[in-house]
Amino acid sequence: MRLRTFESFWLLKNGLLYSYPSLQEDLGSDIVVIGGGITGALISHALLQAGYEVTVLDKRDIAQGSTAATTSMLQYEIDVPLYQLADRIGTENAVRCYQAGIRAIEDLAVLVSDEQIDCGFTQKQSLYFAHDEKAATTLRQEYAIRRQYGLGVSWLSPATIAQQYQLQTSGGILSDTAASMDAYRFTHELFQKNQQRGLRIYDQTEISNISYQASGVQLELTNGCVVRGKKIVFCSGYETVAMFPEKTARLFSTFACISEADAQLSSELKQLLIWNTEKPYTYMRTTDDNRLLIGGADSPFNSGSFRERVKDKKTKLLMEKLNRFMPGTSFIDDFSWAGCFGSTADGLPYIGQHEKYPNAYFVLGFGGNGITFSVQGMKLLLKLLRDETDPLLPLYRFGRS
Ligand SMILES: Cc1cc2nc3c(=O)[nH]c(=O)nc-3n(C[C@H](O)[C@H](O)[C@H](O)COP(=O)(O)OP(=O)(O)OC[C@H]3O[C@@H](n4cnc5c(N)ncnc54)[C@H](O)[C@@H]3O)c2cc1C
Repeated sequence: MRLRTFESFWLLKNGLLYSYPSLQEDLGSDIVVIGGGITGALISHALLQAGYEVTVLDKRDIAQGSTAATTSMLQYEIDVPLYQLADRIGTENAVRCYQAGIRAIEDLAVLVSDEQIDCGFTQKQSLYFAHDEKAATTLRQEYAIRRQYGLGVSWLSPATIAQQYQLQTSGGILSDTAASMDAYRFTHELFQKNQQRGLRIYDQTEISNISYQASGVQLELTNGCVVRGKKIVFCSGYETVAMFPEKTARLFSTFACISEADAQLSSELKQLLIWNTEKPYTYMRTTDDNRLLIGGADSPFNSGSFRERVKDKKTKLLMEKLNRFMPGTSFIDDFSWAGCFGSTADGLPYIGQHEKYPNAYFVLGFGGNGITFSVQGMKLLLKLLRDETDPLLPLYRFGRS
């Protein structure tokens, strides 16, 4: 599957930061992590810290999947609004998922700081704005429940939003907790640090077969080498959906573009992530090198050639949206790109075991919160391995309705 268009901004900006060998011999490991994107970087870090011997395998180069394309808006706000999630899974559970998102952003801030990773991580606020009057009525309902459960929100009127951020809206929720970063750089740097601590990383390493046995897993590589592990953890992103007989996530295409680096951006805007109530939603943020990024314009087709074909048209559409919400903004398009995107019906990830695959665990963050879900996966996976429970695990399990 082609996960993204070739010219992803983060890859062009940073280049191939580090490269790793392919695996050319047999080996054994406590845990084999499949996937060298941001999820694999976070999960292998957690496992290594917990004392496991860990080997990471990727069939591409490190961080060349969705991680090279992500716009890295780090939000606690799940794609499914809290009031709707509450109807689906109960208020207590829904609030728990939202609170877990807040903790994940805080945990990531600590990790970036402890590891001294230079990835432009910046703590911000997030504005979720109503794109019209009708949406404002529903958004007020969302605001009321978030406020009731102390999620750190305030309601901003259209006039306040226009004055502070020069945005034309019908009002919106301002949230205290959010962040952004360069996820591609973060992933590379975290892998690099952990390799020095003993993490084994092999890229361009293709698996031809996996046997799931009572005593562990055995992976056969296309070059004939064999890897044995006690457990396997799939951090393999959207392609993993094909492993399950049941429907887990819907895969579609999403688009993004970014301005030249000297955009005239107010200091208020630089402190903000922005998204709205349109379906599909449009989102914006600034980068640490002074660019404005805008994304959305999702399409139900998940095909690499389709994404290449319509990318320019989608960039035009995103610019039109920008001009509607921020009339008169000078946005000189510098790069556009697109990628596959996966979302679940309840907006929640799949973190846990699947009955079809003994000794295997999955950390699959879907939706606009993919990265915050992957951060949650760090603690949750350790609990799963220790047979401990966590109230989030039943909510993120396979087979939920
Ligand atoms: C345009 C765009 C914007 C986005 N914006 C946001 C955002 O603002 N905020 C957010 O949180 N998320 C966002 N996302 C989602 C985010 O990118 C993903 O949640 C995240 O990158 C997933 O990381 P990952 O490591 O799980 O997957 P990937 O980065 O895709 O890594 C999975 C890795 O597994 C490897 N792999 C797969 N199968 C195998 C196999 N069989 N053998 C060996 N290796 C294998 C792949 O080669 C790949 O390198 C966005 C995505 C896109 C495309």
